[in-house]
Amino acid sequence: MPVNTKIKIVKKQKLKDDIIKYVCLAPEIAKDVKIGQFIEIKVSKGVEPFLRRPISIHNVDKENNMIEFIIQVKGKGTTALSQIQEGEMLDVIRTFR
Ligand SMILES: Cc1cc2nc3c(=O)[nH]c(=O)nc-3n(C[C@H](O)[C@H](O)[C@H](O)COP(=O)(O)OP(=O)(O)OC[C@H]3O[C@@H](n4cnc5c(N)ncnc54)[C@H](O)[C@@H]3O)c2cc1C
Repeated sequence: MPVNTKIKIVKKQKLKDDIIKYVCLAPEIAKDVKIGQFIEIKVSKGVEPFLRRPISIHNVDKENNMIEFIIQVKGKGTTALSQIQEGEMLDVIRTFR
């Protein structure tokens, strides 16, 4: 059953010009995620872009309830996501179980 939850960006790191790594506090996800599974992220604070973007889990730290994911800034969705800053919350749907 999918779960809709909020995760907090605790670290945002530019790996290359268009590649960003996010470390997020995500208790409801970290507890049972496996690397390679994906979450559906609401990429903007407003209405557009409307569709969530599936993004893969790159790493997980279960002890500290942290997950990591990496994006390549490509189009509308990842550009919007790239503008959300450390300390802010992301609305995600956990689709795996
Ligand atoms: C299982 C999975 C895991 C992924 N993991 C990663 C990852 O770890 N890192 C990463 O950078 N990218 C990942 N992607 C790709 C990511 O979801 C985006 O499609 C990609 O980053 C480009 O999105 P954009 O919004 O920047 O581009 P856009 O140009 O806005 O979108 C690209 C195209 O996809 C269409 N589209 C976008 N979202 C949806 C949706 N929810 N349903 C249907 N069509 C849609 C758009 O209409 C457009 O045609 C993954 C995709 C999948 C399917």
